[in-house]
Amino acid sequence: MSAIALPRIPVPRRLSAYLRWFLWVLLIALVAAVLVTLVWLAGRYEASQVQRRLERDTGDAVSDIRSAFTRNVQSLQALHSGAPRQDGWRPQAQALLREHREWMRLEWRDQSLASLDAVDTPYRSPVFGRFGRGNAQADVALACANARRVSGPAYSSSYFVSQVDGLGLEVMELCLPLVSGGQLTGYALATYSLGEILAGLVGPQLTRSQEVSFTEADGTRLAMHGSSRRGTRVFTAQQLLDLPGNTLVLRMDSWRGAPDLFPNVLTALVTAMSIALVTVLVMLGKDMRRRLRAEHDLADALAFRKAMEDSLVTGLRARDLQGRITYVNPAFCEMVGFAPEELLGHSTPAPYWPPELADDYRKRQDIRLTGQHAPPREGFESVFMRKDGSRFPVLIIEAPLINALGTQTGWMSAFLDISEQRRIEELSRASQERLQATARLATVGEMASLLSHELNQPLAAISGYATGSLNLLRGGSHALTDIELAMRRIAEQAERAGKVIKSVHDFVRRRDQEREPVAPQALLDAIMPLVSLQARKLRVRIQVTLQDDLPQVLCDRTMVEQVLLNLARNAMQAMDQAGANDPTLGIQVRRAGDGERHTGAKAWVEFSVKDCGPGIPAAVEQRLFTPFYTTKAEGMGLGLSLCRTVVEQHGGFLGFGPNHPSGTIFRFTLPVDPGPQATPPDAASL
Ligand code: ADP
Repeated sequence: MSAIALPRIPVPRRLSAYLRWFLWVLLIALVAAVLVTLVWLAGRYEASQVQRRLERDTGDAVSDIRSAFTRNVQSLQALHSGAPRQDGWRPQAQALLREHREWMRLEWRDQSLASLDAVDTPYRSPVFGRFGRGNAQADVALACANARRVSGPAYSSSYFVSQVDGLGLEVMELCLPLVSGGQLTGYALATYSLGEILAGLVGPQLTRSQEVSFTEADGTRLAMHGSSRRGTRVFTAQQLLDLPGNTLVLRMDSWRGAPDLFPNVLTALVTAMSIALVTVLVMLGKDMRRRLRAEHDLADALAFRKAMEDSLVTGLRARDLQGRITYVNPAFCEMVGFAPEELLGHSTPAPYWPPELADDYRKRQDIRLTGQHAPPREGFESVFMRKDGSRFPVLIIEAPLINALGTQTGWMSAFLDISEQRRIEELSRASQERLQATARLATVGEMASLLSHELNQPLAAISGYATGSLNLLRGGSHALTDIELAMRRIAEQAERAGKVIKSVHDFVRRRDQEREPVAPQALLDAIMPLVSLQARKLRVRIQVTLQDDLPQVLCDRTMVEQVLLNLARNAMQAMDQAGANDPTLGIQVRRAGDGERHTGAKAWVEFSVKDCGPGIPAAVEQRLFTPFYTTKAEGMGLGLSLCRTVVEQHGGFLGFGPNHPSGTIFRFTLPVDPGPQATPPDAASL
């Protein structure tokens, strides 16, 4: 039986451990996949950015070249504008060549392409110096034919020219037809060096970090310019430079350090975040392992606690500050016979409270919950009810329930079933009572035999003397002397018998000397343990009411206690025999009002013992104080007569009357100490 929903230790613990590991592995795999994807995407994004920039640069380079070509054509046209004379042409052409490094040579030819004049660039040795200009004639003719056809500048396809120094040069011809008055007057030729085009006409910012080149369709480089290669990863962009008569391919290569782990900020950021994420994962994993260990320890501690609770014979119950039951252990459930589900969450009245005591218990609980009165450390006794309705006494020890934060969350109570202890106490009390009764009987018997023995002799002597005297008188004898003697002897014996009786009386009265001032509370305190013992057995409730400021009474303490005990016991037995509903024994002590039943100046304290039993029938009432009169099987019938004797010996009064609505009240009075002489009470006035 489990009294509380303890955190359940999972039965398939290994299964859940596998599941947990699987989830962890899955999480790590997912995070790794996300990270790799992120890094890859970042790399790709960066590459695409580079590629886009490269393509933009290539476009820029092409448009740079194209606009430079247009300007160059204009410069050429300017050179030939008007009708230049041959001697004027040359210096101008030289000046132009100084300005335009991309031009290797300027020529002026007539309509049949015969050279009129030619100037070479001053920056290098003449390009056609080694193999002559004749080799390029076909290209020139083709370009000029094109030019004439389109009536504008036309370019030849590029070709290689070997140089004197063993190196070579890729060049391209520009042919510009010269028209004057609608008549073709000749051609202006400009030889471009492809290498110089790249070096001079493409913006330096474009070639600073990337390589720019002219290529053929198959990718063969014709000329190139730009930075040397850095890194191993190459980005390439190509664009066509469409010229009349020729189409060049401009290619731009950008070299990147591909193995570079952090190619840009984005990738670096993503990588840093990934590292942070992995670190967090590792830390989480460590924390998880610590938690798992703590969970294991906790589960062990719980199992230990549960084993401990299950083995306890002491009942345990916890309540919150609203009085709801929050925990019960198996021993408690066994004690009261209720299942944990029937108790947990239950508020007042608890199912194990006897209905007749529920009000008292509720008050006690309210006081406890206000927290004003700490429960006694040694515990207190109470009566609980089992599920089958039977009552049993318990000893309750309560202590505040403090949580981990140090605040009180309720009350924890421990319960001990003390029915067995009570049974043993009751047994010893009953045997003690029987012993006392036997002792009293023995004393009474002893006194009776003593009396009979002591009185027997004088009575026998009196009887003898009386018979003798009668015989003397019947015989007509006038021995008056003898008769007188006999009479004297009779008187003597009678006196002796009187002395015997007086000595017994003196023996009884001897206790007069033992009177002392006693507080009424002290008298009640002395008998309460015995009275409550019997009350518990007979399930009688006790109500004690004491007036405030009661004076002390002058009495033989032991005897008065005996009187109180007798009256209380009679009352409880009467209620028990009658099977009274909610039996209550009321003990009241108050100052007796002046003139109530006493006259004189003496003050009195009145003790009353009332029950709600059947009352005293008229037939019994007559003989109530008669010694040896009893209606009980085990009774002696001496109690009330002794009580009256004791009370009257104190000068007080013992009487009784009906209680309302049922039962009897016995009252007796005792003198207040110290007090003036009181007159004996009037017994008939009750
Ligand atoms: P005992 O108790 O030994 O019988 P007592 O002298 O004390 O002797 O009582 C005499 C009788 O008086 C009892 O047997 C009982 O019938 C009756 N009696 C005493 N007290 C009460 C009471 N409170 N209610 C009813 N009857 C009583």
